[in-house]
Amino acid sequence: MKIALFPGSFDPITKGHFDIITKGLRIFDKIVVAIGHNTNKKSLFSVEERKKWIEDLFINEPRVEIVAYTGLTIEFCKKVNANFILRGLRTSVDFDYEQSIAYANKELVSTIETVFLLSSPAYFNISSTIVRDIIVNGGEYQKFVPDTVVINLE
Ligand code: ADP
Repeated sequence: MKIALFPGSFDPITKGHFDIITKGLRIFDKIVVAIGHNTNKKSLFSVEERKKWIEDLFINEPRVEIVAYTGLTIEFCKKVNANFILRGLRTSVDFDYEQSIAYANKELVSTIETVFLLSSPAYFNISSTIVRDIIVNGGEYQKFVPDTVVINLE
């Protein structure tokens, strides 16, 4: 069975992430969306909120599992039996960053392959960072995120 881990911050999940997962489902039998939970990295939303939005989005897709994790991504792959890491590429900036991580992971565990999928043209300029900025400034974030992302900022 081809299992891919799709790691990220998903703070929050965007239409760009959704696009990559949807495309990934045509290649892999199962995708584990792994929410990286780094205590040093400040996130806008809690892990619980981020997880719930993705769970609601894939409520009718049993081939997508959502988990939170800490530590090395490659070690977590072993835990969930993932033989692939799925990553999305928007621009050459993503590529440069992703290439070094993929090589480092390959050195650590040679049996796990990183697979890159290109962002669809409609989504290549969406990032969680921009979406967070729109949210905190009261903009129309709904254009960039799936419908399950409902935000109540007190
Ligand atoms: P990270 O903090 O690891 O970069 P993100 O949540 O920002 O986590 O992204 C997770 C993955 O989704 C990364 O591979 C990233 O390149 C990809 N991604 C993010 N936004 C898009 C997008 N708009 N189109 C395609 N891939 C994307």
